[in-house]
Amino acid sequence: MVRTSPVEGTKVPRCWPCARASAILARVELLEERRQVVDHCRRMRAEGLVVGTSGNISVRGGDGDLVAVSPSGLDYDEMTPDLVGVHRLDGSPVDAPLRPTTEMPMHLAVYARTDARAIVHTHSTSATVLSTLMDEVPPIHYLIAMFGGPVRVASYATYGTPELAASMITALEGRTACLLANHGAITYAPTLAGAYSQAVYLEWICDVYLRASAGTPRLLPPEEIEKVREKLTAYGPGRTPGDG
Ligand code: 13P
Ligand code: ZN
Repeated sequence: MVRTSPVEGTKVPRCWPCARASAILARVELLEERRQVVDHCRRMRAEGLVVGTSGNISVRGGDGDLVAVSPSGLDYDEMTPDLVGVHRLDGSPVDAPLRPTTEMPMHLAVYARTDARAIVHTHSTSATVLSTLMDEVPPIHYLIAMFGGPVRVASYATYGTPELAASMITALEGRTACLLANHGAITYAPTLAGAYSQAVYLEWICDVYLRASAGTPRLLPPEEIEKVREKLTAYGPGRTPGDG
Protein backbone atom coordinates (compact mmCIF):
# COMPACT_ATOMS: atom_id res chain seq x y z
CA MET A 1 0.00 0.00 0.00
CA VAL A 2 1.27 3.44 -0.81
CA ARG A 3 0.20 6.89 0.18
CA THR A 4 1.23 10.32 -1.00
CA SER A 5 4.22 11.70 0.85
CA PRO A 6 4.00 15.11 2.54
CA VAL A 7 6.49 16.21 -0.09
CA GLU A 8 4.29 16.30 -3.14
CA GLY A 9 4.86 13.87 -5.94
CA THR A 10 6.59 11.10 -3.94
CA LYS A 11 4.98 7.88 -2.69
CA VAL A 12 5.89 6.18 0.58
CA PRO A 13 4.97 2.63 1.67
CA ARG A 14 2.98 1.72 4.82
CA CYS A 15 4.76 -1.53 5.92
CA TRP A 16 6.89 -1.14 9.08
CA PRO A 17 10.42 -1.59 7.66
CA CYS A 18 9.46 0.57 4.71
CA ALA A 19 7.93 3.19 7.03
CA ARG A 20 11.16 3.22 9.03
CA ALA A 21 13.17 3.59 5.84
CA SER A 22 10.97 6.49 4.77
CA ALA A 23 11.34 8.11 8.22
CA ILE A 24 15.11 8.01 7.73
CA LEU A 25 14.65 9.37 4.23
CA ALA A 26 12.40 12.13 5.59
CA ARG A 27 15.24 13.26 7.85
CA VAL A 28 17.62 13.35 4.90
CA GLU A 29 15.05 15.03 2.65
CA LEU A 30 14.07 17.59 5.34
CA LEU A 31 10.34 17.11 4.68
CA GLU A 32 9.21 19.19 7.66
CA GLU A 33 11.78 21.94 7.06
CA ARG A 34 10.74 22.23 3.39
CA ARG A 35 7.11 22.58 4.41
CA GLN A 36 8.05 25.27 6.92
CA VAL A 37 9.96 27.21 4.26
CA VAL A 38 6.90 27.25 1.97
CA ASP A 39 4.50 28.26 4.78
CA HIS A 40 6.71 31.11 5.97
CA CYS A 41 7.53 32.39 2.47
CA ARG A 42 3.79 32.68 1.79
CA ARG A 43 3.23 34.29 5.18
CA MET A 44 6.08 36.72 4.59
CA ARG A 45 4.37 38.05 1.47
CA ALA A 46 0.82 37.95 2.91
CA GLU A 47 2.01 39.97 5.93
CA GLY A 48 3.78 42.57 3.77
CA LEU A 49 7.37 41.74 4.73
CA VAL A 50 8.22 41.36 1.03
CA VAL A 51 6.76 42.20 -2.35
CA GLY A 52 6.75 39.82 -5.32
CA THR A 53 9.49 37.20 -5.12
CA SER A 54 11.75 39.29 -2.86
CA GLY A 55 13.22 37.78 0.28
CA ASN A 56 14.24 34.24 1.10
CA ILE A 57 14.17 31.72 3.91
CA SER A 58 16.25 28.72 4.98
CA VAL A 59 16.00 26.11 7.74
CA ARG A 60 18.84 23.90 8.89
CA GLY A 61 17.99 20.23 9.42
CA GLY A 62 19.18 16.65 9.28
CA ASP A 63 22.01 16.42 11.79
CA GLY A 64 22.66 20.11 11.23
CA ASP A 65 24.60 19.27 8.07
CA LEU A 66 21.80 20.11 5.60
CA VAL A 67 19.73 23.16 4.84
CA ALA A 68 16.34 23.60 3.14
CA VAL A 69 16.46 26.82 1.07
CA SER A 70 13.83 28.72 -0.89
CA PRO A 71 14.45 28.66 -4.65
CA SER A 72 15.38 31.85 -6.50
CA GLY A 73 12.79 34.02 -8.20
CA LEU A 74 9.88 31.61 -7.79
CA ASP A 75 6.38 33.02 -7.24
CA TYR A 76 5.48 32.11 -3.65
CA ASP A 77 2.05 30.91 -4.83
CA GLU A 78 3.81 28.32 -6.99
CA MET A 79 6.23 27.16 -4.32
CA THR A 80 5.69 23.61 -3.05
CA PRO A 81 7.84 21.63 -0.57
CA ASP A 82 9.41 19.50 -3.31
CA LEU A 83 10.62 22.69 -5.07
CA VAL A 84 12.45 23.82 -1.91
CA GLY A 85 16.04 22.66 -2.34
CA VAL A 86 18.07 20.66 0.16
CA HIS A 87 21.76 21.56 0.16
CA ARG A 88 24.85 20.74 2.16
CA LEU A 89 26.45 23.53 4.17
CA ASP A 90 28.97 24.10 1.37
CA GLY A 91 26.01 24.86 -0.91
CA SER A 92 26.23 21.67 -2.97
CA PRO A 93 22.79 20.26 -3.84
CA VAL A 94 21.39 17.07 -2.29
CA ASP A 95 17.90 17.36 -3.76
CA ALA A 96 17.25 20.67 -5.50
CA PRO A 97 15.17 20.82 -8.68
CA LEU A 98 15.56 24.61 -8.95
CA ARG A 99 18.39 27.09 -8.43
CA PRO A 100 18.61 28.13 -4.77
CA THR A 101 18.15 31.72 -3.62
CA THR A 102 20.76 34.11 -4.96
CA GLU A 103 21.44 34.98 -1.31
CA MET A 104 22.88 31.52 -0.62
CA PRO A 105 26.24 33.16 0.30
CA MET A 106 24.51 35.10 3.13
CA HIS A 107 22.65 32.04 4.42
CA LEU A 108 25.72 29.78 4.35
CA ALA A 109 27.88 32.45 5.99
CA VAL A 110 25.44 32.72 8.92
CA TYR A 111 25.30 28.93 9.39
CA ALA A 112 29.10 28.71 9.23
CA ARG A 113 29.58 31.28 12.02
CA THR A 114 26.58 30.99 14.36
CA ASP A 115 24.31 28.40 15.97
CA ALA A 116 21.42 29.56 13.73
CA ARG A 117 18.86 26.94 12.70
CA ALA A 118 16.76 29.29 10.55
CA ILE A 119 17.23 32.53 8.59
CA VAL A 120 14.67 35.02 7.28
CA HIS A 121 15.62 37.72 4.77
CA THR A 122 12.98 40.37 4.05
CA HIS A 123 12.59 43.64 2.18
CA SER A 124 10.09 44.98 4.74
CA THR A 125 9.32 48.63 4.10
CA SER A 126 10.40 50.46 7.26
CA ALA A 127 13.56 48.38 7.65
CA THR A 128 14.45 49.11 4.03
CA VAL A 129 13.73 52.84 4.43
CA LEU A 130 15.91 53.02 7.56
CA SER A 131 18.67 51.08 5.76
CA THR A 132 19.01 54.07 3.40
CA LEU A 133 19.17 56.64 6.22
CA MET A 134 21.20 55.26 9.13
CA ASP A 135 24.22 53.14 10.03
CA GLU A 136 22.37 51.67 13.00
CA VAL A 137 18.75 51.36 14.14
CA PRO A 138 18.69 53.76 17.09
CA PRO A 139 17.70 52.36 20.52
CA ILE A 140 14.25 53.92 20.45
CA HIS A 141 12.47 51.01 22.12
CA TYR A 142 13.64 48.55 24.76
CA LEU A 143 12.75 45.59 22.50
CA ILE A 144 15.83 46.35 20.37
CA ALA A 145 17.55 44.33 23.12
CA MET A 146 16.01 41.13 21.71
CA PHE A 147 18.57 41.30 18.87
CA GLY A 148 21.47 41.65 21.31
CA GLY A 149 21.57 45.46 21.11
CA PRO A 150 21.18 48.24 18.52
CA VAL A 151 20.84 46.67 15.08
CA ARG A 152 23.58 47.71 12.64
CA VAL A 153 23.27 48.41 8.93
CA ALA A 154 25.63 46.31 6.77
CA SER A 155 27.42 48.42 4.17
CA TYR A 156 25.99 48.15 0.68
CA ALA A 157 27.07 45.44 -1.73
CA THR A 158 25.25 43.98 -4.74
CA TYR A 159 22.63 41.37 -3.88
CA GLY A 160 23.75 37.75 -3.99
CA THR A 161 27.48 38.51 -3.76
CA PRO A 162 30.12 37.23 -1.32
CA GLU A 163 30.81 40.91 -0.59
CA LEU A 164 27.26 41.33 0.74
CA ALA A 165 27.66 38.18 2.85
CA ALA A 166 30.91 39.59 4.26
CA SER A 167 29.46 42.99 5.19
CA MET A 168 26.42 41.25 6.73
CA ILE A 169 28.68 39.06 8.91
CA THR A 170 30.49 42.18 10.17
CA ALA A 171 27.18 43.87 11.01
CA LEU A 172 25.84 40.75 12.77
CA GLU A 173 28.67 40.63 15.34
CA GLY A 174 26.93 40.02 18.69
CA ARG A 175 23.48 40.42 17.09
CA THR A 176 20.79 38.14 15.65
CA ALA A 177 19.71 40.70 13.05
CA CYS A 178 21.03 43.44 10.82
CA LEU A 179 19.78 45.70 8.09
CA LEU A 180 21.37 45.55 4.63
CA ALA A 181 22.00 49.03 3.25
CA ASN A 182 19.56 50.04 0.49
CA HIS A 183 18.22 46.50 0.46
CA GLY A 184 16.37 45.01 3.47
CA ALA A 185 16.89 43.00 6.66
CA ILE A 186 18.03 39.59 7.85
CA THR A 187 17.35 37.73 11.11
CA TYR A 188 18.32 34.33 12.48
CA ALA A 189 17.26 32.18 15.43
CA PRO A 190 17.24 28.60 16.75
CA THR A 191 13.83 28.06 15.07
CA LEU A 192 12.07 29.41 11.99
CA ALA A 193 9.22 30.69 14.20
CA GLY A 194 11.86 32.64 16.15
CA ALA A 195 13.62 34.07 13.09
CA TYR A 196 10.27 35.05 11.56
CA SER A 197 9.10 36.68 14.78
CA GLN A 198 12.35 38.67 14.93
CA ALA A 199 11.77 39.91 11.37
CA VAL A 200 8.31 41.16 12.41
CA TYR A 201 9.63 42.88 15.58
CA LEU A 202 12.51 44.45 13.64
CA GLU A 203 10.11 45.90 11.09
CA TRP A 204 7.92 47.25 13.90
CA ILE A 205 10.86 48.95 15.68
CA CYS A 206 12.02 50.54 12.40
CA ASP A 207 8.47 51.76 11.84
CA VAL A 208 8.30 53.24 15.36
CA TYR A 209 11.58 55.07 14.74
CA LEU A 210 10.44 56.49 11.40
CA ARG A 211 7.15 57.73 12.87
CA ALA A 212 8.90 59.20 15.93
CA SER A 213 11.31 61.00 13.60
CA ALA A 214 8.53 63.50 12.91
CA GLY A 215 9.93 64.97 16.14
CA THR A 216 13.13 64.32 18.05
CA PRO A 217 12.77 60.89 19.61
CA ARG A 218 14.15 60.20 23.08
CA LEU A 219 16.61 57.28 22.88
CA LEU A 220 17.49 54.72 25.54
CA PRO A 221 21.01 54.56 27.01
CA PRO A 222 23.22 51.48 26.40
CA GLU A 223 22.97 50.44 30.11
CA GLU A 224 19.21 50.15 29.81
CA ILE A 225 19.44 48.06 26.63
CA GLU A 226 21.91 45.75 28.36
CA LYS A 227 19.63 45.47 31.42
CA VAL A 228 16.67 44.56 29.20
CA ARG A 229 18.75 42.07 27.20
CA GLU A 230 19.40 40.14 30.40
CA LYS A 231 15.80 40.49 31.62
CA LEU A 232 14.42 39.18 28.31
CA THR A 233 16.21 35.86 28.81
CA ALA A 234 13.53 35.07 31.43
CA TYR A 235 10.63 36.57 29.45
CA GLY A 236 7.70 34.35 28.43
CA PRO A 237 4.67 32.59 29.84
CA GLY A 238 5.14 30.95 33.22
CA ARG A 239 3.11 29.49 36.05
CA THR A 240 2.25 31.62 39.06
CA PRO A 241 4.74 30.65 41.82
CA GLY A 242 3.11 28.22 44.25
CA ASP A 243 0.11 27.58 41.96
CA GLY A 244 -0.43 23.80 41.51
P1 13P B 1 15.94 35.31 -4.56
O1 13P B 1 14.62 35.22 -5.28
O2 13P B 1 17.09 34.81 -5.40
O3 13P B 1 15.84 34.64 -3.21
O4 13P B 1 16.27 36.84 -4.34
C1 13P B 1 15.44 37.68 -3.59
C2 13P B 1 16.23 38.66 -2.82
O5 13P B 1 15.68 39.21 -1.86
C3 13P B 1 17.63 38.97 -3.18
O6 13P B 1 18.22 39.79 -2.22
ZN1 ZN C 1 16.95 40.74 -0.84
